[in-house]
Amino acid sequence: MADEIDIANALIDSEVSRALNKIRQSASQSTEGAKFCIECGDGVPEARQKLGFKLCVPCASESERRKALFADY
Ligand SMILES: [Zn+2]
Repeated sequence: MADEIDIANALIDSEVSRALNKIRQSASQSTEGAKFCIECGDGVPEARQKLGFKLCVPCASESERRKALFADY
């Protein structure tokens, strides 16, 4: 029984560290945002660029909304 828990914990640990590595990797890759929105070409606020965003605020909320719509179906 204890062995099974150990195996489960080890699996969770490796899953978690893999996920963390992926997040760190993508974070370091996308430190550069886009100056202009890749959807509509509008200027992207500097604060968003620094966070690595490539969409202006309206397009970002639009794409979030679309994602939410798709998730419902
Ligand atoms: Zn836009």
